[in-house]
Amino acid sequence: MSADTTLMPIPGAVDPVPVARAAVPRADGRVELVGLSRDRIRDALEAAGLDDRQAKLRAKQIWHWIYNRGVGDFAAMSDIAKPQRPWFAERFVISRPEVVEAQVSSDGTRKWLLKTHDGHDFEMVFIPDADRGTLCVSSQVGCTLNCRFCATGTMQLVRNLEPAEIVGQVMLARDALGEWPSQSEGRMLTNIVMMGMGEPLYNFDNVRDALKIVMDGDGLGLSRRRITLSTSGVVPMMARAGEEIGVNLAVSLHAVTKEVRDEIVPLNRKYGIEQLLEACAAYPGANNARRITFEYVMLKDKNDSDEDARELVRLIRKYKLPAKVNLIPFNPWPGAAYECSDPARIRAFSNIVFESGISAPVRTPRGRDIDAACGQLKTAAEKKRRSREAA
Ligand code: SF4
Repeated sequence: MSADTTLMPIPGAVDPVPVARAAVPRADGRVELVGLSRDRIRDALEAAGLDDRQAKLRAKQIWHWIYNRGVGDFAAMSDIAKPQRPWFAERFVISRPEVVEAQVSSDGTRKWLLKTHDGHDFEMVFIPDADRGTLCVSSQVGCTLNCRFCATGTMQLVRNLEPAEIVGQVMLARDALGEWPSQSEGRMLTNIVMMGMGEPLYNFDNVRDALKIVMDGDGLGLSRRRITLSTSGVVPMMARAGEEIGVNLAVSLHAVTKEVRDEIVPLNRKYGIEQLLEACAAYPGANNARRITFEYVMLKDKNDSDEDARELVRLIRKYKLPAKVNLIPFNPWPGAAYECSDPARIRAFSNIVFESGISAPVRTPRGRDIDAACGQLKTAAEKKRRSREAA
């Protein structure tokens, strides 16, 4: 099926300008309530004809059903009078993204290919560990940034995800893990990383609004300390992210010289390493208890020398950054221009950083048997679709 929307103009790798595009209204004309704040739910109910008092009461009840109980059907809302429930169902909807495909890896990693109501595929991954479970959430369908090591970077940006589609990922994961009603203890889904498809700071308003709902204590209730937003370095938006969202920051650094970072993270040509690290030093709320994570993908003979490791340490010290470094063995995908560094090289790199007093664990590759690298599942699904269409 081809999407019924035109593609966004792609401004190019050097100076990407995110072009916000309006969401396509639902085909059935109903208003989506997921992703709206309590006040906006109340406004929507008022606009549909409820008086002040009713709208306020119903907004509170509906919020509870959506985010505490995980209920998506007005018919199940027992504190709304039975004859009134169809009135809501005709005008409003509480939906999740559609699941196109769900995969489970032998190591427990789960990956979903999801679809927006207007027909665009995107991805979400859940990574269980002994003491936590992390959901990797997408912020856009595709991406403008063309990072060379990233399969998503080879796709065009189709559109920003709406708050409903961002919050909807968390709700879907809760559905799959059987974690309704919301509880504060014993959850499997404990952490969120905005690290899936897309650059979250190029969809700032929607990501902020969605995360506020995810963090609301009277609902999904994830603490801001357990949420990490990962950026490729959209410097002008970083301070606002700290002030208005206040979650942990991760930065896709991946290189320590202009030449190499220009190549693998082309946004570097616009916001260079020094500028980026200055913005990190100014990030509100970063301190030794809440370190900034620097993501560093290990690419053979590209960014993995002892000299690179020493330069990384020098830069972190120069800007006095409360930092930890996450070393990520490259997970190659078909057509990738790079190979993963050898394990001994990764260890040597890690040791140099560790010896300087900065934590630099090597991330264990997860879900390799299920195309778990970002963008791979969507690419594989598109290939399948194309070969079916050609047959
Ligand atoms: S790494 Fe992130 S920002 Fe870069 S192309 Fe991939 S999805 Fe986009």
